[in-house]
Amino acid sequence: MAVRVIPVDPFDLVIFGGTGDLARRKILPGLYLRFLSGQMTADSRIIGAARADLTEEAFRQSVRESIAEFVPKPKQDEAVISAFLGQIGYVTIDAKGEGGWPALKAMMRPGMVRAFYFSVAPALFGDIAERLHLHGVADGESRIVVEKPFGRDLASARALNEVLAQHFKESQIYRIDHYLGKETVQNLMAVRFANILFEPIWKAEYIDHVQITVAETVDVAGRGAYYDKSGAMRDMVQNHMMQLLCLIAMEPPYHFDPNAVRDEKLKVIRALDAVKPEDIVRGQYRATIDKGGDSYAVHSENPETRTESYIALKVNISNWRWKGTPFYLRTGKKLRARSSEIAITFREPPHSIFDDHTGWRENVLVIRLQPNEGMEMMVMIKEPGPGGMRLTQVPLDMSFADALGSEANDVPDAYERLIMDVIRGNQTLFMRGDEVEAAWAWADPIIQGWEARGDRPQLYDAGSSGPEDALMLMHRDGRRWRDIR
Ligand code: NAD
Repeated sequence: MAVRVIPVDPFDLVIFGGTGDLARRKILPGLYLRFLSGQMTADSRIIGAARADLTEEAFRQSVRESIAEFVPKPKQDEAVISAFLGQIGYVTIDAKGEGGWPALKAMMRPGMVRAFYFSVAPALFGDIAERLHLHGVADGESRIVVEKPFGRDLASARALNEVLAQHFKESQIYRIDHYLGKETVQNLMAVRFANILFEPIWKAEYIDHVQITVAETVDVAGRGAYYDKSGAMRDMVQNHMMQLLCLIAMEPPYHFDPNAVRDEKLKVIRALDAVKPEDIVRGQYRATIDKGGDSYAVHSENPETRTESYIALKVNISNWRWKGTPFYLRTGKKLRARSSEIAITFREPPHSIFDDHTGWRENVLVIRLQPNEGMEMMVMIKEPGPGGMRLTQVPLDMSFADALGSEANDVPDAYERLIMDVIRGNQTLFMRGDEVEAAWAWADPIIQGWEARGDRPQLYDAGSSGPEDALMLMHRDGRRWRDIR
């Protein structure tokens, strides 16, 4: 199956923080790959903007290095890299000063899509937004892209929204959640709304529960001081996992249109119940003798830290479709395996005509985000061979890499896709301001609750599946987590 590439309109894209880690690892290599595929046309331009006093040539050299480091070798084509670098400029700008802005303005070309990627700390969003206008760099059609974290609570998210709204309309603001750019996450919408098969049974009557897992093997070494102010709830649940939950739970939008989709997601967030303290398990990894390494407290550089590197929650949605179907979310660092998936467990058939129930299991639809993006449907079949009617469960497995063949390698990664969506002016896969605020309005009381109670996270062994209490969260309800593999 060929991956179709439709070129986007020519653009001027300015990356504030163009010398930073995110630009080096994701944004610039991603743009190179879009150029290689022909999606970014030869008359588009990328301009790095950062505090470092660099010449254009020095910046181009650093882009060359990041391509060498972060683009797969077979995709590094010297002629294409040279052509790509020829379209890159640089301007030294301090977001808090007035220097550099007139030079940036002079680089903007009329008639091009104009986009500004704020790949800097959120504290600088206001300064940059203001100066883009003050110096006449942005116009009423320009787009801005902002990165996570979008606030650390409702008040700070609101403040950020207000600062941006002073200079840009909501239709110009692209809040990135790179989870929404993942191929499988979009496939979730295709599966739900492009097939008749699933939607009629996509409700509490037929679905027993949903599990959303984002398990990581990495620790927080090197960025512990930052992470310690955040924790798993702020870093993963309020944004990425909430978005996944919304895509599973939302009503069919009337059209695949940015505001129609985001309206439906917002309704889900507003229908979330407050989470009870007994439905929350927080954990912190500790070093183990056999696996070595350091504990979270060492990595966080705060011996007294109560920040969670793991969280599991039982979430209920109070609406007609989902009343009675809990959503269990869990995410953590330093776990047994790197694995992200959504598992939808269906209820048992209302009546069994078979005597033998030994191999009996429920149907489960598993949507794998990583590794090996794809879908799997666990179904019951007859165990092969003679010996009567014995049942067994087998997976109907669809790995996207297998289904799409070698073309799967050409599927753009989340950042590539999302940046192209910005140029196309399509906000469907970006979070709207009210969505972000609603998600914080749900998360804030949960965080405030454990802070007020002085809860300490339960320690779990590095390399394990997480704290014991998380197992109990499911056992209590007669259910169990899927293995983290
Ligand atoms: P970084 O510290 O590596 O880079 C920061 C960039 O901002 C540098 O280019 C620096 O020159 C520039 N900068 C700093 N102060 C400036 C000023 N006053 N004026 C102009 N430029 C200034 O940070 P990063 O890791 O690239 O992250 C950038 C943003 O993206 C942050 O908000 C971060 O939370 C977010 N983010 C990063 C990642 C990641 O993987 N690195 C992932 C998700 C979100």
